[in-house]
Formats: sequence, C-alpha cells, structure tokens
Amino acid sequence: MTSETRPRKRVLLLLSPLTYRAAAFLDAAARLDLEVVKGVDMPKSLAEYWNQPFGLDFSRPEEATKQVVAQATEAPFGAIISVDDSASMLAALASAALGLAHNSPAAALAARDKHVMREALRAGGVPVPHFQPFLLSDNPQRIADEVAYPCVVKPVLLSGSRGVIRADNPTEFVAAFSRLARMLGDEGVNPATTTVLVEEFIPGFEVALEGLLTDGDLRVLALFDKPDPLDGPFFEETIYVTPSRLPDAVQESIATATAAAARALGLRSGPVHAELRVNERGPWLVEIAGRSIGGQCSTVLEFGAGMTLEELILRHAVGLPLDSLDRTRDAAGAMMIPIPAAGILTGVTGEEAAKETPHVTGIEISAAVGGRIVPLPEGSSYLGFIFARADDPATVEAALRTAHDRLHFAIKPEIPVRAASALPIVAR
Ligand code: ADP
Ligand code: CA
Repeated sequence: MTSETRPRKRVLLLLSPLTYRAAAFLDAAARLDLEVVKGVDMPKSLAEYWNQPFGLDFSRPEEATKQVVAQATEAPFGAIISVDDSASMLAALASAALGLAHNSPAAALAARDKHVMREALRAGGVPVPHFQPFLLSDNPQRIADEVAYPCVVKPVLLSGSRGVIRADNPTEFVAAFSRLARMLGDEGVNPATTTVLVEEFIPGFEVALEGLLTDGDLRVLALFDKPDPLDGPFFEETIYVTPSRLPDAVQESIATATAAAARALGLRSGPVHAELRVNERGPWLVEIAGRSIGGQCSTVLEFGAGMTLEELILRHAVGLPLDSLDRTRDAAGAMMIPIPAAGILTGVTGEEAAKETPHVTGIEISAAVGGRIVPLPEGSSYLGFIFARADDPATVEAALRTAHDRLHFAIKPEIPVRAASALPIVAR
C-alpha cells in the first residue's frame, strides 16, 4: 500500500499543561506520521476560552471519557496514550469504552494510589515491605509507639518523593508525621479522610526498570542503577545510569519481581516504570506505574537504529512494526540536579564548563533565576538535568559527577515569615 491509500493512524495524546514529556511524544508522532489529537487537561470553560481544540478534565475521567468517545465517532483513534500519570485513569476508561488494548481502570487506580498498590502487590505475592495505613488526623504519638523502626512515612497520592520521610525512632516519627500533616494541610486535604502509609524501611540499592507490556508479557527495555545511596531522611533522586552494573542473576530477579508486580496490579499493555530496592533478601517493590520514565530521563534511551522511547511506545500502541527493542550498546545516564538549599535562585554559573565535560551530551537548566527553590520533602522544584553517554556505566557516572561539580547554583536564603515578624520593630 502506498502512503496515499493508507489512512494515517490517529492517536489521542493526553497531556497535562505542564508536562515535561509532551515534546518528546509529539516529535515521535511526527516522525511516524501519526495524526495526533491533543487532549489537554483543563476544565471545559477554560478550554473554550483558550481556544484549546480538545480540553478534557482529567479529574473527571467518566465525563471526559464521553467526550473522547464522541470525538472517536468522527474518526476512530488507534490508541490513547496518557503522557504522564495524571490521565492514566482517563486513558484506561476511554480505551475500555472504545475497545482499545490498554490497562484496565482497576489497574490504573492501583498504580496511582500507593495504599491500593501495596495491598494488590501483597495479595499477588510480590515482595513488599510491611505497611500500615493511618489517617492524617490520627495521633502521631500513639502511632509512634505502635510501628517498628526504621520506618518511612508517605502520602498515598503524591510523586517525586514529596512527603516521603524516614524515621528511626518515635521522636523522629512524630516530627515526620507532623511535617507531612502540615504539608498536606497546606494543600487543602481533609485530614480525617486522607490516608498516610507507614512502611518498614527497606535498606538496599535502588534501581528503576523501564519495560513494555504486551498482553501481560514484560519486556525489559532498560534497567537503571541509582548509584547515590537513598537512605533518607528524604529521598531526592539524582543519578540514573544504564545498563545496570548488578550481576546478571540479580538483574533477572528484578525483572521477575517487576513482571509479578505488573500481574498483581493487572497492568497488561504499554509502558511500565518500576522502582525497586535490592538487598541480600532479594528485590523489593517500591512502586510500579503504567507509564514511561518521568522527567527528561528518557532522552538518554535509544533503541534499535536510533529509535526513541516515545517512538517505541507509540509504535507499540498503534501496532506499527518494532524491529528491535534492544537498547543501543553504549552506556547512558542522567542526573536530576540535586537541590543544595532552600531560597531564591539568584544565578547559575559554570554551565559552559559543565557542557564541555567529556561524555556529557547535554545540560538542561529548568529552574528560572529569580524563582523560589524548595527542597524535599515539601518541594517539587527541579533545577535541571545533566545527560551523558560513554562506553561503560562507570564513565557515565563519573562524567555526570564532574559536570555537576562544575555547575554552581547561587541560592539566597529567604527570611522565613515567622523570623521576619520576630524582628524588633524600631522607631515608632
Ligand atoms: P514517589 O511516588 O513520591 O516517588 P515512592 O514510594 O517511590 O514515592 O518513594 C520515593 C523514594 O523513597 C523511593 O524511591 C525510595 O528511595 C524511598 N522509599 C520509599 N519507600 C521506601 C521504603 N519502604 N523503604 C526504603 N525506602 C523507601
Ligand atoms: Ca517513586
């Protein structure tokens, strides 16, 4: 068939307005000559006001599904893809309504709520830490006497390690729980209906697995080591390097645990991103989601003859041929630039020198000068990313560290409101 007689495949990309991932998917769709409909998360009134062709309210997935089904009657969609977590429920419901291969709504829910996920993983026999749900309105002092240490306090619906805090004893626990309660309170949640998980702290080395599910079968696309220790009290992600330097047998056990986790949640189709911790007792699931890797880390992945991860996901979703799912042979990595302090970013220096570091392929500073920098556990600020590529993972890791050493972020502390109001009032 020639391209004139073959209708272009049409895909619905579900995007939240602020996602880092949109450009990579749109570029890939253009390369594949797919017709893209962008479903952007916004209330209907706003969509009309901004003249957005297809505004969808992701927080009302049933209603949004009806809009998607109506759109599909004009011309059918070959696939519906949620670019990040925010539309996974809508993508599942709409795909089910249109008979497209996708993860079920139940799986989408389990992959979003950490308590539901823990229950499903445990029921499926997947190694997970001991966990207990509490309400945010519970008395932290009483919980502190009840749980084992070290433990981790975590919210069930946030991401990016926000609100995840380790506590080694009851005093630390009360401080951690109260801090999380304050943080979620500031976001307007109702403490009497909000679940907080307290989990056993799993010691060990952390990895991230990027995979692709076809009818429930997991294919590992890349396994990343996270060589900086993540031991708390907060869990800021920094370096990702692939291929993993773990022994083959350990890598296999990680893949087996991830496949079991996908089965336990009912994830069957499309990308998966899993995080695990590995110790002498084997791999433990931290979490698994039916989406691809977040941030801009996917830019370091290349498959077959230069195919991007997004192209691979789109090809898989619309049933275009996938000649090779093998990653290109060299090693690659990314660093999410750690936040050195809280305050106002007043300047960034050393970017040119950092870019010239051998094996560094790119640096992206995403924080704006003049902007506020809030570290974990409250913050969701990003300073930016460093990318590197070399023959082996150790060289990649070293290059990322060297480039990072060459960068300098000047951050001016803000005077806290309380401290400011305590300043002496002079000259009345
Ligand atoms: P998020 O969705 O915010 O990323 P996670 O559950 O993945 O939340 O936790 C963030 C990080 O906190 C993990 O990558 C891991 O480093 C650490 N962490 C979470 N739970 C545990 C645990 N039970 N034991 C040890 N570390 C944990
Ligand atoms: Ca995580």
